[in-house]
Amino acid sequence: MRTAWTCPVCGGNSVGRVGQNQYFCRDCFLEFSPVKDGYRIYEVKDDGSLLAWEDGISG
Ligand SMILES: [Zn+2]
Repeated sequence: MRTAWTCPVCGGNSVGRVGQNQYFCRDCFLEFSPVKDGYRIYEVKDDGSLLAWEDGISG
């Protein structure tokens, strides 16, 4: 179990856990969820809703 996360988008480490399998990067204001083949990336919109990127990040 990893306890520290690096943002898969910007590489920063200002990452906080916001859900059971969901993390938020304070540097680029994106949420991400680790999945088996990479990450799903979500933009947080002004109203607080999430917009999933069409393509995740593999790795
Ligand atoms: Zn980031």
